[in-house]
Amino acid sequence: MLSRPRPMLARSKIGRTARGFATLLLAAAVAVSTSANAFAQNVPVVRDAEIEALVRDYARPIFKAAGLANDGIDIVLVNDQSFNAFVTGRRLFINTGALVTAETPNEIIGVIAHEAGHIAGGHQQKLRDQLDRAKTMAIIATLLGAGAMVAGATTNSRGLAGAGVGVAAGGGEMAQRSILAYQRGEEITADRSAITYLNATGQSGMGMLKTFGRFQSALSLSGTQLDPYRISHPMPQERIANLEVLVKASPYVNNIDPPALQQRHDMMRIKIAAYMQGQAAVSRLMRKNPTSLASRYGDAQQTYLYGNPAAALAKTAALIKEQPKNPYFQELRGDILMKINKPKDAADAYAKAVSLDPARSGLLLVSLGQALMAVGTPDSLKKAVTQLNNGIGRDKENAEAYRYLAQAYGELGEIPAADLATAEGHFYSADYKDAKIFAMRAQQKLKRGEPGWLRAQDIINYTPSNKLK
Ligand SMILES: [Zn+2]
Repeated sequence: MLSRPRPMLARSKIGRTARGFATLLLAAAVAVSTSANAFAQNVPVVRDAEIEALVRDYARPIFKAAGLANDGIDIVLVNDQSFNAFVTGRRLFINTGALVTAETPNEIIGVIAHEAGHIAGGHQQKLRDQLDRAKTMAIIATLLGAGAMVAGATTNSRGLAGAGVGVAAGGGEMAQRSILAYQRGEEITADRSAITYLNATGQSGMGMLKTFGRFQSALSLSGTQLDPYRISHPMPQERIANLEVLVKASPYVNNIDPPALQQRHDMMRIKIAAYMQGQAAVSRLMRKNPTSLASRYGDAQQTYLYGNPAAALAKTAALIKEQPKNPYFQELRGDILMKINKPKDAADAYAKAVSLDPARSGLLLVSLGQALMAVGTPDSLKKAVTQLNNGIGRDKENAEAYRYLAQAYGELGEIPAADLATAEGHFYSADYKDAKIFAMRAQQKLKRGEPGWLRAQDIINYTPSNKLK
């Protein structure tokens, strides 16, 4: 399931219908929202096991070719219709707008290769190091902010400063506008490096050329605002012309994405359309090939979100029959079963999804934990605790998972553990004051020196750094 942070979901249609919002890295969102409320509403991160795994699969070979760490990369999906992508080193930020715009995996892989080229070239290294220490939401505020500024939005700089970014940018609009800007020479270097990585992995540069070429046209990709990516990456005609020569000289220029990868890409696009854009967007994507697996996936999802759960269940069963090993079809089945209040069956579906998931996503385990909680027997609550802890083990900063964990411990009467989990939930939401209150409360009932007590002490001792410099 594609899910948004709970506060932003509250009044949306998806919020009412979709279950199991395994939130997020809400991190500095709290800080942002207090000082720039309007902006906070535009700073959403979405979590989704399927999309995160796919983008990681796009990035992995490129990062390897670039000599960058190829494990432990966190994929951060920013729910914004504009085009943007940015790599700090350990996190890859990418807008859902970029993913849904790209018709092929190769278009995204090309952009990732170009970003890897900037890292390998040491471009903006100081800023990148600063951002790598920053909270996820603060970075997103910067990435979105750059576009919002130029589009003339009334984002106030105190909001960004509250997120710890305005400080680094120097506060002024101009500084924020250029915070991620590369120089022309750096763009040429990054383009060349990107071609090297694409060649090393036997992939074409045509997708990158197509994407950057589109930025050349007068219209932005999203059509509604200037794309932040175009602002940070200057794309004069000459650069595109040079890139075209390089791309066409590659022996792999005519290589296309493997059909199975293209299919996953198509399914990702239609999922973003279904959960984030609505039925018209789904129909648009289905029109080209209404009977494809991706179209039927989109149809099942929109039936679940906007229509009839029983019909959605039947459509999902047909998908499962066609791809019995697809973990995300099982996940969708679980989501639908939760919606119609069959948590036991949902737990079975999620358990199947977990067992089939090669990417070992923590999100699926959290969904399983929630379903087991909903079953509500003492035995299933104990199992829920185990699965939620497993999920957190794979996804340590999932604040929402800690909240479910706290609830499960609470229902089992394990109060110190519930308090500590609540403290963790606040901690990873960057609400350090409440985190400390609950950590202290937990400590009172824990034995001094035991692991839980020590973790509580870490939270009590934590001093957030509000500065990037
Ligand atoms: Zn660039």
